[in-house]
Formats: sequence, C-alpha cells, structure tokens
Amino acid sequence: MSKRPTDRDAGSSQKKKSFLFSGLDESMRDPALIVYADDRIVIIKDKYPKARHHFLVLPKDLENVADLKALRGPRHVDLLKYMQCKGEEQAKRCESADALEFRYGYHAIPSMRHLHLHVISQDFDSPCLKTKRHWNSFTTAHFVDSSEVIRQLEENGRFTGITSEKSKKLLESELRCHKCEATFSTMPKLKAHIRGHVPP
Ligand code: AMP
Ligand code: ZN
Repeated sequence: MSKRPTDRDAGSSQKKKSFLFSGLDESMRDPALIVYADDRIVIIKDKYPKARHHFLVLPKDLENVADLKALRGPRHVDLLKYMQCKGEEQAKRCESADALEFRYGYHAIPSMRHLHLHVISQDFDSPCLKTKRHWNSFTTAHFVDSSEVIRQLEENGRFTGITSEKSKKLLESELRCHKCEATFSTMPKLKAHIRGHVPP
C-alpha cells in the first residue's frame, strides 16, 4: 500500500507531485464549505482555519495546476487578479472585517492539489493553528502575496518560486511574531503573545 503524506510531509512530497492531497476538489462541491461561487471561481472556508477568517479561492478550471511555477503570464494574470479581487470582497463580508488585517497569498510550495489563493485574517486566532510549520507557512517567505505572484507573471512571464531546501529552512525557522518580530520558544507562548496584537 502506498504511503499517504501527512501534513508534516508536505514539503518533501513536492518531489512527488502525485502525492499532493486532493481534498479540495471535493470541498469545492460541499455546500457547507462554499461561501461564494460564480462561473470562474469558488470560494470555500478552509476546513482547518488558521485564523478567525480563512478562505480558499479556487479557479474552476486549472484543477490540475497546484504549482505556481506552472502559471504563465499573461495567460493566467487576469485569472489571478480576479481571484484576488473576489478574495478581497469576501474579506470585506467577514464579521469585524474593518478591525482586522487580511493577507491574500499562496504557499510557495503547496500541500494540496488544485491552485488555491489563501484569504486569511492576521489574528491567527484559531485552535487549528498548532505547529511551527503552520505558523511559518503563513508568516515567512513561504507565504507569497498574490500581488507578488501577479507582478512576477507580468514582468517575467513566470513565477520563480523557492527550492524545497529553502522551503524546509523557512518552515523550520524560529518562531517570530509577525507584528513585532519578538521570538518565542514554543507555540503556546507565541499564541499568548499575538493575542495582544489583535482586537478581542
Ligand atoms: P496549502 O499548503 O497552500 O496547500 O494549504 C492547503 C490548505 O487547505 C490548508 O490551509 C488546509 O487547512 C486546507 N485544507 C486541507 N484539507 C482541506 C479540505 N478537505 N477542504 C478544505 N480545506 C482543506
Ligand atoms: Zn508581537
């Protein structure tokens, strides 16, 4: 029986693309998760939200594209801009949206198949945010702003990305507050600290 990857395997699984998880295709059809849909995209709630508000914007085509490196400008730029625009609209619909900051971006090396844009509030106030890997995937260069991906596609025709070695290094780097850069030895200490940066 072939080994299924765990969340912790995600970085190394990139070498074997067929090992990316495929659950998003199913979730895109789950009415309990869908918050918006039109002819081009579906927006779903992230099943394991890492913040008070965490959504994934998925294009209806490109289901076989997981890797940003497969995108080409200008062919995909319009779609990526549309995904960001719809993600921003979704953020505005969230409770207390005015009091929260949001980021819109991609994991440089994803763990799930089917291209997806993360829309995530920067409170990181969620019981699903548990590990150093979770934290670093959203707060280091492992998280690439949508605007940066679009810029690279417009200027260079493609996204450069990072190597799996660099990804591993980023995901294992020390825990650092995304607001004030203070460092912490454990996730509980970091999580207690970041509560002070966000509205109750
Ligand atoms: P990435 O590392 O960019 O591939 O992130 C994948 C995201 O999908 C994570 O934030 C997970 O919490 C989320 N996720 C994992 N499985 C599912 C699922 N079946 N439905 C919806 N979201 C999921
Ligand atoms: Zn801080």
